[in-house]
Amino acid sequence: MMGYRIVLALVVLLAGTQNGLALELWKGSPVQGGMVILKTEPDATVTWDDTPMLIAENGLFVIGFHRDDTTPITLIETLVNGEVNRLILTPEMRVFQEQRIDGLPPAMVTPPQDVLDRIARDREVVADARGVITPILAWQENFIWPAKGPITGVYGSRRILNGQPRAPHYGVDIAAPNGTPVVAPADGIVRMVDDLYYTGITIILDHGHGVSSTFLHLQDASVTPDMMIRKGDVIGRVGSTGRSTGPHLDWRVNWRDKRLDPELLAGPMPN
Ligand SMILES: [Zn+2]
Repeated sequence: MMGYRIVLALVVLLAGTQNGLALELWKGSPVQGGMVILKTEPDATVTWDDTPMLIAENGLFVIGFHRDDTTPITLIETLVNGEVNRLILTPEMRVFQEQRIDGLPPAMVTPPQDVLDRIARDREVVADARGVITPILAWQENFIWPAKGPITGVYGSRRILNGQPRAPHYGVDIAAPNGTPVVAPADGIVRMVDDLYYTGITIILDHGHGVSSTFLHLQDASVTPDMMIRKGDVIGRVGSTGRSTGPHLDWRVNWRDKRLDPELLAGPMPN
């Protein structure tokens, strides 16, 4: 890491101020589902598509790439002296699991109106909880696994039923018995605890700057909204509530409305 930074500094000296190398990659790499931390001057502004990024006092800020992001993005940094730099990041493409199932009986029943209303209301509550951009700095930490066990579902996977692609799976599924403690993967503030139609008892934890974790299908939650949580604190227990086929933890990570791959943050599952 250190050597890398020295090399970048030399390149900046050689290139002068016109080639936009003041912004630097700090952690992570641009890849579909990946989170990237970058470093700028603490008093600089950085925009992406005219949206200003929230910059921490140490000059770090975070961005993320959705599963299907393919086009290069341009970050525009404006320093206090008026100098403008650009950094272009191209997300590395990944291959996601696909499962084709043909010959299924056609047309599931459409849920009745009251269920549709509940699903719409659930979506709104979740979007509101994830939409908060706070100055918490927990996204700068190393994330840990909220539960341990075999991974039975991965980020980005998709089923194609009778030739119709379904929505991709955006979480990582960890198989664990009912009642297994679920711990916070990083510090955060609880934004939502609710019982939702599809995802059952669900907790949303805000790690700051638009980064959040969502925990699905819990048996119960031991936290309430606005509680400050430390990494490793128990927040609830594994269950099978909502539309779930068996006890497991489905852990999701967002940056704003982009879905990130939790496995890229937590690394390999420990034994
Ligand atoms: Zn899942």
